[in-house]
Amino acid sequence: MLVIQEAVSLKPYNTLGFDVSARYLICANNEQDVLNARTFALENNLPLLVLGGGSNVVFTQDFDGVVLLMNLRGKSIAPIDERRFEVRCKAGELWHEMVLWSIEQGAQGLENLSLIPGTVGATPVQNIGAYGTDLNDWFVSLKAIDIHTGEICVFDKSECEFAYRDSIFKSKFPQRYVITELKLHLNSAKCGDVNVNYGGLLDALIEQYPDTSSYTPKMISDVVCAVRRAKLPDPVKLGNAGSFFKNPVVSSEHAQRLQTQFNGLVAYPQTAGQVKLAAGWLIEQAGFKGVCFDGVGVHDKQALVLVNYGEGTGQQLLELAHCIQAKILEQFGVALEIEPRVY
Ligand code: FAD
Ligand code: NAP
Repeated sequence: MLVIQEAVSLKPYNTLGFDVSARYLICANNEQDVLNARTFALENNLPLLVLGGGSNVVFTQDFDGVVLLMNLRGKSIAPIDERRFEVRCKAGELWHEMVLWSIEQGAQGLENLSLIPGTVGATPVQNIGAYGTDLNDWFVSLKAIDIHTGEICVFDKSECEFAYRDSIFKSKFPQRYVITELKLHLNSAKCGDVNVNYGGLLDALIEQYPDTSSYTPKMISDVVCAVRRAKLPDPVKLGNAGSFFKNPVVSSEHAQRLQTQFNGLVAYPQTAGQVKLAAGWLIEQAGFKGVCFDGVGVHDKQALVLVNYGEGTGQQLLELAHCIQAKILEQFGVALEIEPRVY
């Protein structure tokens, strides 16, 4: 039976810990619950907001609609051949638990994406990535329910239009599709080549395991977890949504101009004459690292992470973000784009 809660605080459901309320909240345990929630929203002429772990959203006001909390569970893994596995996973599973489970099953591929908070169903939305690996490296297809029609659709990789922290589910059709299941193809750990090309990761691995010839997915996952725990605030203790801005990509001419002006500019060449700048470095240079305004601020170890010290609001955080954007534009001529979805 569908349980519909009314006037619910969303504070426990977003990692920034902002205390806004939803007019209705429905927890979906299966596809039928999603369809019933859609019918309820349509009949009451209300918008529907899909929520996983709430680790990539900023709530700035009460939501006058139906929040659909994704709790669809279940996962399976099967060999395709000697070299590969197929994983199927429902949207409400926790991503990090799924990563650890895939490693225990002898699969390789997701280890660099360890300890990313949130649910499996949200991972295609911004094509999650970390330490040189993105979801789309392993993604095959997903199932989703179209909110407009109620139909069940399948999207293959090219149809998702994955890009750097982006997909059609984030930019082209936000809130149109409820993702219910993912299919991934992973390597067998016996055959797969682990990816340790991301500079900081290799340094941390060597420190713990000096023999560079035999890294396993488990070793990499453990080191990624340790680095992340040391550097990023735990949302349970300090409200945050991870990186608040995308790393900006500029022309190589622009990057060269900045390099002559600013010593130590952190820049990574991309394809087609473009360069990715580390947004955290720009924010630190602009003097924001560790600042605190009212109840919100910029984390003192990673300037890309904005935090809620407990009493802050989404509006205050957004004001701080706009202030940072204006300063970075003035100082470096670079436009920073907010990464989480703002509601
Ligand atoms: P939510 O915040 O609940 O939702 C995010 C968006 O996706 C919303 O627009 C929501 O409507 C939509 N959505 C959620 N579920 C579904 C669904 N089933 N169907 C359709 N739409 C849906 N991100 C990275 O890419 N790399 C990182 O390394 C990383 N590190 C992080 C570290 C910390 C400490 C934190 C707090 C966040 C980090 N993030 C990172 C951001 C975030 O964890 C990921 O984007 C994650 O995938 C969001 O999952 P979620 O379930 O919490 O999504
Ligand atoms: P970091 O290692 O201090 O590096 C700073 C930035 O420089 C990163 O954001 C990364 O961009 C870029 N970078 C570093 N080495 C690179 C390389 N060899 N090639 C290309 N780009 C490189 O970053 P961090 O804050 O500790 O985060 C580590 C990883 O976790 C990063 O991949 C980051 O994206 C991810 N992360 C993401 C979130 C989020 O919410 N989105 C939160 C925390 C951590 P990329 O971001 O493009 O990798």
